[in-house]
Amino acid sequence: MASPLLRMRALGACRQIRSFSDTSRRNAADVKSLGVIGAGQMGLGIALVAAQKAQVPVTIIDTSDKALSKGLAFADKLLAKDVAKSRMTQDQADQARALLKPSMKMEDLSSVDFVIEAVPEIPKLKYDIFGNLAKICPKHTILATNTSSISITKIAAATTSDPTDTSASSRVVSTHFMNPVPVQKGVEIISGLQTSKETLDTAVEFCKRLGKVTSVSADTPGFLANRILMPYINEAVICLETGVGDRDSIDDIMRNGTNVPMGPLQLADFIGLDTCLSIMKVLYQETGDSKYRPSVLLGKMVDAGWLGKKSGKGFYDY
Ligand code: NAD
Repeated sequence: MASPLLRMRALGACRQIRSFSDTSRRNAADVKSLGVIGAGQMGLGIALVAAQKAQVPVTIIDTSDKALSKGLAFADKLLAKDVAKSRMTQDQADQARALLKPSMKMEDLSSVDFVIEAVPEIPKLKYDIFGNLAKICPKHTILATNTSSISITKIAAATTSDPTDTSASSRVVSTHFMNPVPVQKGVEIISGLQTSKETLDTAVEFCKRLGKVTSVSADTPGFLANRILMPYINEAVICLETGVGDRDSIDDIMRNGTNVPMGPLQLADFIGLDTCLSIMKVLYQETGDSKYRPSVLLGKMVDAGWLGKKSGKGFYDY
């Protein structure tokens, strides 16, 4: 354990690095346009909420035109539901919809103020995208990721081949939205080692403009939400595999005993068992702590292709 004096010096050094690397002098009110990369369940939700709440134009990039049209059809469905339930007028829904601009070209992000990346949880894919964003976007653009488990420091490092040049890496931050984005209010904001204070503050304020409640957490495996949630889900699966209780007993006691809308096994099905497994693997590998060992049953279910709701079968049938 470092002495208090050494720790204070280390903290001071971090602050100094940050103050030298600050290149973004914008604040959230200056964010007048958004780019979202990935039109999947998270990206589309983020884009829609930004159009509705912050009323900024949103360029949505995806490599698949099928994903873009499916995503926009889903946005139409959600907007129609909001109108039907009197949560917004038809005019407001039309205005929000008109702000969503699909594209398959990353170059269309060349003038946006804020980007949120929401592509699959594959490190190399994210590193390549952030390398490109550093070249394509203006020098003030905040570069945010929605990663569930990949280190923000590593993603920020991928913006440059020269680690002493923090002009882009200081603008990288995580805005970790929860699923489904239009419903869940919480967003976790995570700084990497290179993230400047202005970047962090702008990300917090911009998420507040989206009507979200922010929590700030450190760049450690699982951050806050998954560090707490995934071992809980994993323990529920271990209880099932070791016969402590059956599926319904496990979900019923947690639903009726802790006042949560879903038990842990049903929640795992909704998140995706592959996602749960990959986050547990990150927690286990990066900490080396046996308390994060993924359940054997969870691994077997992923091997069987039983990924939960999205594949039609998990702990429940859909
Ligand atoms: P998803 O699979 O639903 O969507 C990903 C989209 O990215 C797809 O439409 C795909 O076509 C697109 N894509 C792939 N490569 C691309 C590229 N190079 N450029 C542009 N688009 C590309 O994934 P998701 O569930 O929305 O997850 C996205 C991110 O959000 C992941 O990092 C995930 O860990 C994180 N996340 C997911 C959840 C959740 O519950 N699903 C919750 C919080 C965070």
